[in-house]
Amino acid sequence: MLNLVLFGPPGAGKGTQSQKLIDKYNLVHLSTGDLLRSEITAGTELGLKAKALMDEGILVPDEVVIGMIDNKLKENKTAGGFIFDGFPRTVPQAEGLDRLMKENGTEITCMIALEVDEEELTKRLLLRGKTSGRPDDQNEDLIRKRVQEYNNKTTPVANYYEKQGKFFAVHGIGEIEEIFDNSCAIIDRHLAKAQ
Ligand code: ADP
Repeated sequence: MLNLVLFGPPGAGKGTQSQKLIDKYNLVHLSTGDLLRSEITAGTELGLKAKALMDEGILVPDEVVIGMIDNKLKENKTAGGFIFDGFPRTVPQAEGLDRLMKENGTEITCMIALEVDEEELTKRLLLRGKTSGRPDDQNEDLIRKRVQEYNNKTTPVANYYEKQGKFFAVHGIGEIEEIFDNSCAIIDRHLAKAQ
């Protein structure tokens, strides 16, 4: 089973690369951002609470996102593998994910971290905000707040996987295909080792 964590700050290109990786390796996509936005659209209580935080660029509580992932893993018992996008975003979430993987008799294969500097991120997110309709992409202060949350709470997650020998960085600026090829090279090395 191939279980990938796609890591990187907001605007790093996780959505774009996820889609390509899903197609190539036949994975189920689990994006906590998308799951939260569906809750908002559906007008659930969870969605209502999450929206207030998301509109401020603040992370929603760990137990909320871990619970959502747990449900999705249970709904996809026969999947050949997963790609986690925008999750885990804190060390407790990473610990929660390890526990859930273990309960399902599997583990995280590796983390692919897309590296992009803050200036480029802000530029990309403001551009995305013009068409995505996402309120959190339309305001520069909010974008900086999200990058700050990432630097404070999410960066330690890289270290968590590094300690397990599962962290791999990919330069996230340049041609989409080149970034994809570099990511695949890392994944294929793991798959070859697992056989
Ligand atoms: P981006 O990576 O562009 O910030 P996402 O769609 O992944 O976009 O997330 C949007 C917002 O949803 C985040 O700013 C945060 O408030 C919330 N969110 C998404 N995933 C998580 C998570 N794993 N833990 C806590 N909050 C999350």
